[in-house]
Amino acid sequence: MDTEIVVKKNFKYRLYPSAAQTIALDTQLAEACRLYNAALQERRDAYRMAGKSLNYCDQANQLKDIRAAGDLGLVNAQCAQDVLRRLDKAFKAFFKRIKRGKTPGYPRFRSASRYDSITFPTYGDGAKLLDNGKLRVQGVGQVKLKLHRPIEGTIKTVTVKREAGKWYAVFSIECEPRPLPPSTEKAGLDVGLRAFAALSDGTEIENPRYYKEAQASLRRAQRKVARRKRGGNNRKKAVRDLQRAYAHVRNQRADFAHKVSRGLVIVFGLIVIENLNIKGLAGGMLAKSVNDAGWSSFITKLTYKAAEAGRVLLKVDPRGTSQRCVCGAPNPKTLSQRWHYCEICGLSVTRDHASALEIMRLGLSLLGGTWPT
Ligand SMILES: [Zn+2]
Repeated sequence: MDTEIVVKKNFKYRLYPSAAQTIALDTQLAEACRLYNAALQERRDAYRMAGKSLNYCDQANQLKDIRAAGDLGLVNAQCAQDVLRRLDKAFKAFFKRIKRGKTPGYPRFRSASRYDSITFPTYGDGAKLLDNGKLRVQGVGQVKLKLHRPIEGTIKTVTVKREAGKWYAVFSIECEPRPLPPSTEKAGLDVGLRAFAALSDGTEIENPRYYKEAQASLRRAQRKVARRKRGGNNRKKAVRDLQRAYAHVRNQRADFAHKVSRGLVIVFGLIVIENLNIKGLAGGMLAKSVNDAGWSSFITKLTYKAAEAGRVLLKVDPRGTSQRCVCGAPNPKTLSQRWHYCEICGLSVTRDHASALEIMRLGLSLLGGTWPT
């Protein structure tokens, strides 16, 4: 029996609103932000004054009255519910961290300039792609959209987003898996410190060179902001430039992650990676967080692409993968030791290659010898 797999992914497109539409979009975001902050204030007050915790339902039940009284400029009802759900999420995360014995910051008020998106949780209600190629957004009108690649699957939600002064629509979709021809090829993947990743077959995936250049321009933009006086127009402009630089890095990274994950999924039937979410990672593992931002976005893409293609993706415990040999012999190395040599079995490869082999071995042992060799 086949397990039913639903593939979820996002399609992001640039929007080109007119000047009037831009104002309307800004207004919708500002109103969503106002609702968010008001709901947060209400939760704080309820707790401080009555020792009462409000939940999502308590707050959503009031929306009808608020809207009826004309007190909310956010025109779509479900969109408003989504704002309250975001706040609820923030609180749930807050309480979860407390439960774990941490001391998290209380959910904070958001500034309008940083409240950057609204979500229409039911496609067709409040936002819809029209036959003329435009996106109809309730309260805004028909906004020009550049469909640079076709949307596949069933659209579930639409998020309208402001990023560094540009506007985007993100469609979250669900579709059926489209299996690729079966492959018995397998790969263990190790997060690199210098390279992006090392494969168990010895291949290294380099970080693209433009990363370095982008990092440099990011640092320049940051310094510029730091030098400008607060409140001045020059600072505003510098902040905008910094946001643009960030957006640029994000887009490049996403593009790279798409390409690499797609390439891996085409070739390999089994892919094994480390589960870097495991708590208590220490020492050498911390250094890997250098690559974190890029890695987690890569894993997200790899996960849905593997599911869609019917590939097996396994996550294994990362502890000790760089301190053992695939033959089972301990092989302690400091971070600066880049070469792996095992006196027991004679394996002599780069450190990352050895880790990738060990990751592969852990993955195969999870499968209990069911993978063809
Ligand atoms: Zn060995």
